[in-house]
Amino acid sequence: MNTIHDILKQHELRITPIREMVLVVIRDSKSALSSQDIELKLNDIDRITLYRTLKTFESKGIIHKAVDGTNVQKFAMCDAGCNEHIHHDQHAHFNCDHCGSTFCLDSLEIPAIKHDTGFQVRSMDVIMKGICADCAD
Ligand SMILES: [Zn+2]
Ligand SMILES: [Zn+2]
Ligand SMILES: [Zn+2]
Repeated sequence: MNTIHDILKQHELRITPIREMVLVVIRDSKSALSSQDIELKLNDIDRITLYRTLKTFESKGIIHKAVDGTNVQKFAMCDAGCNEHIHHDQHAHFNCDHCGSTFCLDSLEIPAIKHDTGFQVRSMDVIMKGICADCAD
């Protein structure tokens, strides 16, 4: 597995303590995290700095939004192929009715849908709801 330093270097980001801390929290989490989740895990982190850090990570292809149909924006680690030009995270996201956690289902790739609507589709979200594996135990 790539170290946090490797990931930051690969995406041409300077290593700062804040970036390191935030990325460790996201990487070590099984589920996608909102900025509030991250704030709770890191004491005394400045909200604006955190917001900016997440924006930077997203634009560099390090993390992506795990769209789950709730109003809360959550983030998860990207595929190794993501970069500042393109995200490849076309997989389904699962939101648990019981614990509220959102997971990336990396193995469930979203298939292209053939259509002749004339609309140019740039992205598509698949949101699954139900009971996650932990809650089903
Ligand atoms: Zn990505
Ligand atoms: Zn659950
Ligand atoms: Zn995802």
